[in-house]
Amino acid sequence: MRVKLAAGNWKMNGTRAALAEVDTLVAEHGAASVEVLLCPPATLLGAMAERIGDAQIAVGGQTCHPEASGAHTGDISAEMLADAGATYVILGHSERRADHGESNDMVRAQARAALAAGLKCVICVGETEAERDAANTLDIISGQLAGSIPDLSTGESLVVAYEPVWAIGTGRTPTLDQIGEVHDYIRAELERRFGTGVGRSVRLLYGGSVKPSNAADIFAVSNVDGALVGGASLKAADFGGIIDALEQA
Ligand code: PEP
Repeated sequence: MRVKLAAGNWKMNGTRAALAEVDTLVAEHGAASVEVLLCPPATLLGAMAERIGDAQIAVGGQTCHPEASGAHTGDISAEMLADAGATYVILGHSERRADHGESNDMVRAQARAALAAGLKCVICVGETEAERDAANTLDIISGQLAGSIPDLSTGESLVVAYEPVWAIGTGRTPTLDQIGEVHDYIRAELERRFGTGVGRSVRLLYGGSVKPSNAADIFAVSNVDGALVGGASLKAADFGGIIDALEQA
């Protein structure tokens, strides 16, 4: 039985004033029947974890360095995220891959470090629009899965997010059939590599312009175990609507 997961990626948004949204989420969804995760900018991580207190909302980082410490100005290690209260980290988001040149090898190294620090990894994969138009989607996903996911992954420690790059922040989403095709493919790839026990227990999230109005349809697709949500996770009312839809799925 996979526990459904609603994950919010705040990206580079939010100052301490935004923690008021977290108060609302705690009040209205702090004991949800699905798992809820918020990944704020690193500057807010500790304060958010404190604010959440005992409520059932996890916090996570948005990336981490593969090393535990050292001369890496501006970077943050997995240990530091864990020390600030994180239990998850998003890795390989397409914005990190594009803006910071993070390759599959780099993402795999980050994931190894995260696992060693006791963090669960949300590893993102997804094709660009040109790759989909060229009918290369499944090949791209296959390469990203093989290259980005470390061998040590388990059903407990690994979450895979399918995020078509062209759907992130654009208001566009794939058809439900397209989402289902990729999620079924990811499930089959994970079962082939890790065996059915692990392969069937890894949670698969869809990400890309999820909002309260389309969440229920997306959550009804096979092998969709939740969502990774960007823009709509910034407001408690919107993210709460997505959590509600996931609870009812
Ligand atoms: C994301 O950044 O992971 C994302 C899915 O963004 P949005 O929901 O805004 O498309």
